[in-house]
Formats: sequence, structure tokens, C-alpha cells
Amino acid sequence: MERISPVTGSRRLLSRLRDVMAGAEASQERLNQIVTIIASDFVAEVCSIYVLRAGEVLELFAATGLAVQSIHTTRLSIGEGLIGRIAVQARPLALADAQSHPDFAYRPETGEEIYQSLAGVPILRGGRVTGVLAVQNRTARSYTEEEIETLETTAMVIAELIANSELLSQEELHAVEGLDLLSISIDGIRLNGGMAIGEAVHHEKRIQISKLVSDDPIAEQQRLDQAVIEMHGAIDQMLEAPDVAEGGEHKDILETYKMFAEDAGWLARISEAIKNGLTAEGAVDKVRNDTHARFRKQTDRYFRERLHDFDDLAHRLLQHLVDVNKASENSKLPKNIILIARNMGPAELLDYDRASLKGLVLEEGSATTHVAIMARALDIPAVGRTEEAIEKIEPGDTIIVDGDNAKVHIRPADNIKEAFVDILATRAERIASYASLRNVPSQTKDGTSVELHLNAGLLADMQSINDTGADGIGLFRTEIPFMNSHNFPDVRRQSRLYERIIEQSGGKPVIFRTLDVGGDKSLPYWENDKEENPAMGWRAIRVSIDRPALIRNQLRALIRAAQGRELSIMFPMITEISEFDKARKILDLELERANANNYKPVKNLRVGTMLEVPALAYQMPALLKRADFISVGSNDLFQFLFASDRGSPKVSDRFDPLSPAGLNFLKSIIEQCDATKTPVSLCGEIAGRPLDAMALIGIGFRTLSMAPSSIGPVKTMIRSLSIHDLRLYLDSLKDVTEHSLREKLREFAIDHSVII
Ligand code: PEP
Ligand code: MG
Repeated sequence: MERISPVTGSRRLLSRLRDVMAGAEASQERLNQIVTIIASDFVAEVCSIYVLRAGEVLELFAATGLAVQSIHTTRLSIGEGLIGRIAVQARPLALADAQSHPDFAYRPETGEEIYQSLAGVPILRGGRVTGVLAVQNRTARSYTEEEIETLETTAMVIAELIANSELLSQEELHAVEGLDLLSISIDGIRLNGGMAIGEAVHHEKRIQISKLVSDDPIAEQQRLDQAVIEMHGAIDQMLEAPDVAEGGEHKDILETYKMFAEDAGWLARISEAIKNGLTAEGAVDKVRNDTHARFRKQTDRYFRERLHDFDDLAHRLLQHLVDVNKASENSKLPKNIILIARNMGPAELLDYDRASLKGLVLEEGSATTHVAIMARALDIPAVGRTEEAIEKIEPGDTIIVDGDNAKVHIRPADNIKEAFVDILATRAERIASYASLRNVPSQTKDGTSVELHLNAGLLADMQSINDTGADGIGLFRTEIPFMNSHNFPDVRRQSRLYERIIEQSGGKPVIFRTLDVGGDKSLPYWENDKEENPAMGWRAIRVSIDRPALIRNQLRALIRAAQGRELSIMFPMITEISEFDKARKILDLELERANANNYKPVKNLRVGTMLEVPALAYQMPALLKRADFISVGSNDLFQFLFASDRGSPKVSDRFDPLSPAGLNFLKSIIEQCDATKTPVSLCGEIAGRPLDAMALIGIGFRTLSMAPSSIGPVKTMIRSLSIHDLRLYLDSLKDVTEHSLREKLREFAIDHSVII
């Protein structure tokens, strides 16, 4: 008899399965055929497929050799029995004497007590267990390593079928007999309030592999070799880039990375999978899945980071093997997008259609990062620091983003969905009630007016002035349109935009902040050296002073856009007086130029500065002689004051602006501004939080600038507040040395019926 090598056997099996998969039979029928083929190929009496269902339940979906009535009846919890053990460990298991294993769980309905040996493998997809494939024999049989490898390869093909719903319709995956869909919730931090429901879209799309099985391992190995050469070439190129070649940190990182790319074990495992009948891309994906499933439970940081390296390498290798453009062309985006990402820059958010983008879920992030600010500007509910969101969420999953409570509900059960529909309706009513506040004065109970302005960055934001009844735009972040563009907008384009903004403000003041690029606000078309501390690096006014052409164009565009109307300009990140003077000088040059070119003179030019670097607070007398107004940028100010990175999940919340140090610092600024009657406002994110805004008003702020969605809640708070009582209370806290006054202020609000 002809002896079949294990490898040829695996390929032959895969090619038979492929025929079944390509067939037109109903899903259950195809599943039945698959188990029969595997059983005969393995000369096993039993072959069974368990699929992971809602509530962490493994349900027997198909079997040959087990009692028919057990199909769709036998269910095991994850961890229960040998099948459950394979699922929980995400590892294969081969036992010649399965029944004597302590985890063996006897299920009378299956009739399996007559089978002695068992080999089972997890069905993995995206590094997650989606089921278990097992074979059993009546005799005490030892399964070879090659046979296990073949089962794993086969399981991968089955995983694709399950995921693509070719095997199981969506209905089949829905609740049966009280079992809900596998629905989980994860907690994070609030990046923006609000709630949304939609379909998950991964920001970095998983590369779709359309062809998994191949009959020609030699050709596939050649494709792999070629892709590996190309990938090495690309990494070498990165290493040769001038800034890297000089040495330093990123060179070391890239070299380690290159070492991983040459890891013989990794490449050998991919080649092995090719020999077993997978395409090169299928093999890369299989090894990635296996590695992922095995490393996943590692708590050791070193190992988890290595997992990211291998993940990233697999992704790169796949890019060389699969026509990515073609793959992504096929993946049409849904109408209600819930975007899932590890982290992202603010510009990337703008790549998505604003009308379709309903929610954002980040694994990292903090409330004052620019992507969070952008989410607020776009009024997209957003939750950050959601552990393992990428792993837990499959593309297309239904997701509820509950920004208010910093929760993400994944594949919510119907009752949760219904509850949210109710909540959304109530929210809509509340928003409508805020809208009814539009024309009522922003005034405390004891008659003090507080001006409420908007933070904006898009033309579309201008509509919010009208919707909210805000007093103007306290901060227009001009870098946002730059980020949203594919190249540097020229003077004409900028001036047209600024003109429309002024027009749409309906005569209310707009403060244009000059470009604040650098830090995490990078422009896609502008190469900038990587810095170790970009927030404290070459950004904002520093760039404008060193490359004056940029700001000159911008100021020229602003003066032209004003066309004889009022204009307020503000410089970002001013650290010392000489910078303000330099920026002002550039502005004067542009004013002269406009004059010489017969543009209408600006009617009431106001030139101010952001106060977001602590050093500037120690130059107040000189600053107040020059600046027409001051706007405190608390996002940056507090990260520098407390030396705590606003973008770092570990420290961004470590210190509280509502602390003795924070409030005293701000109070001293206001007192100095008030003494010279210089208008002062605060435009950082804390202005938009009712409790924080209450504290700011208590120490003397009378102008605040915030995201449009905050105007209603902050105005509601103001109208329920007595400044007199709050002042008395704050005076009583003068000598408190606690970490934060937040809880005390919250108690004050509750005791005095302030709506926060
Ligand atoms: C700030 O730093 O508080 C601020 C408003 O500026 P940005 O958030 O744009 O850096
Ligand atoms: Mg800032």
C-alpha cells in the first residue's frame, strides 16, 4: 500500500474541505460533510466541532460517531471537560487515555464513553478561541505531532467559515433557548460624554485573506520568501534613513525588530503551515493566531510586548503578500461607525465620514489628548483606556459607547439594547431642554453674568453658536483645518475659510489661535523630526517664529478675511515676552503689507495669548502691558505645572486641577488680569465640566470657553449657583492641603442644590 506522508495527507484533506466549502449545500450539511471527511482522513471513529456561543458556552454543532441527539444539545462551559479545557487554554490536547484524565466530563447523551483517545485543537480566529475541533478513537491511540498540526490547519479553515457566516447564518448565532449572544462590557475613562450605538470598525483594518488553501506549496513558499525579502528590504530602508543611521534609540528598536523578522523559529512555523496546505498568507495568519492565543494570557510585560512585535511583523508580511488596496476596497464602511483603535492622532479621526462616525473606543488615550478634544469637537461619544478592546471586539460587532459612564457594551443583548434606546430618547429630551436654555442668560442666582464661548476648529462648528446661544468662539484651533487637508492650504484657501467663519459667527467675537502644530498634532504632509517629548518640543509659536513664512501666510489670510471687520488673534504656547514681541512684529509687518495693498484696515484688532506654559505666569506685568486678552490653556498648563503628561494614561489623572496648587495658581493669574482690567478666560477642557467650571467661577473667572455640548450643562450649573455662598466656602478651604478639593466641592454643590 502506498505510504502517504503526513504533509501530503494534510494537503489532500484541505483540498477536500475546500471542495465542500465551495459547494452550495446548507451550512449544517456542509458542517456534517466536514466532520465526516476529517474522521475518515484521520481514521477516527469520532470527529466533532464545538462552536463558542453566547455566555461562554461551547455547543456541539456537528459530529460523526456521537449520538445524533447530542448535536445542538450538548453544551459545555468554557473550562468544562476536555473540550472546555482546550478552549480555555487555547492549546491542542492529545490523550491516548482520555477517560482517565481528571478533566474528562461524561455526557451520557453523546455516548462517548466507548472512546478512549482524544485529540483536540482550538478553532482560532484573530487570536481568539471560537470553537474546538476534536477527533476520538475507540482504541488507545497516540496522535502524532504532524496529525495535531494538520488538525490545527484544518481548524483554521473552519474558523473562517464560522466567521464569514457561510457556515452559520447570523440567525443561528442568535440567542437560542435563553442563551444570549456573547455580550460583554468593558470599563474605561470618559473622553467625551454621550451615547451611541453602531457597528465596530477597526481603525487599522485586519487584512482580509481571501485564499487560505493551496495545492502548490512550492509556489507558496516562493511567495513567502519573496515577501520576507521585501519586508527585510523595507526594514533596512528604515534603518538607513539619515536620522536613524546616526544611531540612538529608534535604531536600537528597529534592530531588535529586524532580529525578530529574522527569527528562524517564526519563519519555520510559517513554512510548516505552507507545507500543510495553506497559502503563504494563510500560513502567516495561522502562526499569528497560534502565537496570539498562546501569548495572550501572559501577564509578563516583556512577553506581551514581544507579542506586539510579532503581531506587527505578521501584519507587515501580510501587506507584502496581499493586495491591501484591493482588500480594503471590498470592505465597505457601515453607516453607523464605532471606531476601535489602540490610539490615534486627531487628524486620523477626520479621515472618516463625519455623518457616519458615531462613537470612538480607544485602548489608550486620556481626556486632554487631541484626539479626545477632536471627538468632543465633533461631539462623538468616546471612551478611552478600554483594556483589550481590539482583541475583544470583532469588526461588525454591535457596540454601544456610553461616554457618560465610560463603558463600552460589546454585542449587547436585546434587553440592553432596548434599555439604551430608552436612554437615548431621554438624552434627546435633555438635550432639547438645553436647547431651550439657548436664550436665557448665563447668570448666577445672585446675578453675576458668566460669558460662555465655544471651542471650535471646523466650519461645521459654527452652527453651534446658533444652537447653543454661545457668546462667541473663545478658541478657534486653526490647526484643525490644516490637519484635515492633504497639503498646506495657501493664503487664498485659508482666507476663504476664515471669511466664512467670521460671517457665520453672526457678529459674535471669534478668537483665532494661530497654528499650534507639533506635539501630537502632526500634519500628514509635513515631515517633522520625532522628538522624545513632543508636547514640550518644537511646536506652536516656536515653529511659527523659526519658520515665519507659515504664520505670515496665516496672518495675511486672517487680515484679508476680516475685510475691515473686527479681528482677534491669539498666539499659542508663548513662554516668554520676547516670543510675544516677535509674533506681534510679524503681525505688524502683515498689517503694513495689507495697508500697502489697500486691504480694508481691521476695525478692532485684539491680540492676545494663550497662557499654557507656567513660566509666562511669572512675567505677568510685562505681558499685561502687551496682550489685549489672555486665555488660559489648562490642558497644557497643568501638564507642565504638575509635570504629568496629558496623554499618558498612567499620570494624566494623577494630579487634579481642583487642588490647592492648581486653584491658587489660576487665582493669582486672574487677580493680576483683573487689576489691569485685562479680559481673561479659560479654554481648556475643565471649563466644560460643570463641577470644575463652578470652581473656576468661584476663584474669579467670568469667561469660559468649551465644546458645544458642554454649554447646556455648564449654563444649567451657573443658573443654580450662588457665587456668594461659593466664595465663602472656598475661603473656608484656604488652608486645606489635600490632594484634591474635588470631593469637598461636590459636597458643596449637593448641599446647595447646584446642578452639576
Ligand atoms: C490647552 O492647552 O488648554 C488648549 C486649549 O490648547 P490645546 O488643547 O489645543 O493644546
Ligand atoms: Mg494647548
